[in-house]
Amino acid sequence: MTADGHEQALRAAIVETAQAMSREGLSPGRSGNVSARLGHGMLITPSGMAYDALTPADIVLLDARGRRQRGARKPSSEWHFHRAIYEARPDCGAAVHTHSLNATILACAHRPIPAFHYMVAVAGGSDIPLVPYATFGTRTLARHVADGLARRKACLMANHGQIAIGATPAEALELAREVESLAAQYLGLLQLGEEAVHLLSEAEMARVVKKFASYGQKAQTRAH
Ligand code: 13P
Ligand code: ZN
Repeated sequence: MTADGHEQALRAAIVETAQAMSREGLSPGRSGNVSARLGHGMLITPSGMAYDALTPADIVLLDARGRRQRGARKPSSEWHFHRAIYEARPDCGAAVHTHSLNATILACAHRPIPAFHYMVAVAGGSDIPLVPYATFGTRTLARHVADGLARRKACLMANHGQIAIGATPAEALELAREVESLAAQYLGLLQLGEEAVHLLSEAEMARVVKKFASYGQKAQTRAH
């Protein structure tokens, strides 16, 4: 594929992912944003636009320093944390930020998601961490997010929402859905009382993370 063909395909994938996120009720109104790495820069959703009206031409191309082309739309106010993610995680190709209901409730309660269910390991470890509050769109928030995602593929942001990353926008959205579903399960469990929470051990979660590496149709590195 040509470089231009690749950019056009990514623009279309970002629109598709942002619209799916909105349609599925994973982020109310105009909240949330989606980006994908492109070269040393990124493509990102425009700030404050209704998702159903979004077209590939509305997606904003930012260079490594966050500069956009003349005539381009204003990028998402959160481009600082998207850039910080690509800097901190060379393996990451896309990021999805949502204000999904249950993840946001936990984030507002300042409660990370612990290892109450083995599926928590889809985010890469024994918890889905919570990063401290900072005003939206700030470099301080970007620093917190880069720290939170250094060893995990998803995190909650205090008094705000969640972020999930992946190789592609579709993969990042799939993880955001999973985080939302885990948040709903954990909240339900907390309603039964703290004594209803039975955490899995670090050793067990490490085992699950390892098993996930060859789960499903992924290639096996060694036959057992
Ligand atoms: P943008 O529309 O600027 O991306 O902002 C939405 C949001 O969720 C800010 O955190
Ligand atoms: Zn937000």
